[in-house]
Amino acid sequence: MSSATLTERVFNFSPGPAVLPLPVLEQAQRELVCLPGYGMSVLEMSHRAPGFLDILAAAKRLLRELLAIPDKYQIIFLQGGSRLQFSMVPMNLLRGQSGAAEYLVTGSWSKMALDEARREGKVNVAWDGKATNYDRLPKAGDLKIAADAPYAYICTNETIQGVQFAAEPDVGPLLNGTVPLVCDASSDFLHRPLPIARYGLVYACAQKNAGPAGVTVVIIRDDLVMRSQDSLPGYLNYSQHVKEDSLYNTPPTFAIYLMKLVLEWLKDEVGGLTRMHAINQQKARLLYDVIDESGGFYRGHAQPDCRSLMNVTFRLPSETLEKEFVKEGEDRDLDGLKGHRSVGGIRASIYNAMPSAGAQALANFMREFKQKKG
Ligand SMILES: *Cc1c(COP(=O)(O)O)cnc(C)c1O
Repeated sequence: MSSATLTERVFNFSPGPAVLPLPVLEQAQRELVCLPGYGMSVLEMSHRAPGFLDILAAAKRLLRELLAIPDKYQIIFLQGGSRLQFSMVPMNLLRGQSGAAEYLVTGSWSKMALDEARREGKVNVAWDGKATNYDRLPKAGDLKIAADAPYAYICTNETIQGVQFAAEPDVGPLLNGTVPLVCDASSDFLHRPLPIARYGLVYACAQKNAGPAGVTVVIIRDDLVMRSQDSLPGYLNYSQHVKEDSLYNTPPTFAIYLMKLVLEWLKDEVGGLTRMHAINQQKARLLYDVIDESGGFYRGHAQPDCRSLMNVTFRLPSETLEKEFVKEGEDRDLDGLKGHRSVGGIRASIYNAMPSAGAQALANFMREFKQKKG
């Protein structure tokens, strides 16, 4: 590989797997052949060897610190991606319960989670944004959550539609803690401080905002760990993974190692999640400002008060122009801007690791493109 690799890096707006912090990649490169102090690559190390146990402990400690996770929550690292959590959540939290789980359907991912939960038990759709093509989120008054629901489920950031909860839904049974709130935070995990105490369970696959593909983090409150029934297959049982501290079987060691590096980057280089949130707000504003100032040339998919800081979705006046936009973007090293096939248009994913310069370069390109074609 030539030393030109670095200067050839594009701004990567892919929705996931997605951009990683450059210092993280560089450190992984330096340490790949020999993890300092351990005499071998992390790729070659037993998951029960001290070298990996140190990495696992550090990853948990950093997560606890960055998110201020209270003691009564457990952290586990699983495989199977977020898709497996669509099933594991109802298998562990719904099986054997009497009420129906409440699902807030705010976009493609929560819809898929609902469909999986239906396979497992009783569910209720507490809200569905389909009528407006998932361009908005429920207001507090729109939601009725049964007080005996085993849990209520949300997706904090709908990666495909680009709508995001800026705060936890303020609904009685969720607020007073009678109904545990379960959340798919796959595409906005660690983008801001999250009040973990408002949740019963938070999960996120790493490959959007927290690391590479292959590992999914689950943060779960002790009383919910107790719900898992013994009849569940071993791997699908949360309490099994908690008991074995994520070493029930071989965990995705390299993915956990890389996630640990991302967590160190967040803590030491970014300066924590409050700072990360401020940077994310600035980056998103650069793009939404261009949309809002474009006189309708760019049309945002999400209603302004539901806009995602992570996935900026918008349309252009025609599909031809959208194709040209993607192509010209690529020519300028702005990669991965094509929208999801179900929504169309453009999607710029600007996760934590997207440098401000990347968002700025895209904003400049959008202005020029509009001037030329608008
Ligand atoms: C990507 C994504 C998923 C699916 O993740 P996999 O790891 O591919 O299973 C689920 N939910 C959200 C919000 C996502 O962005």
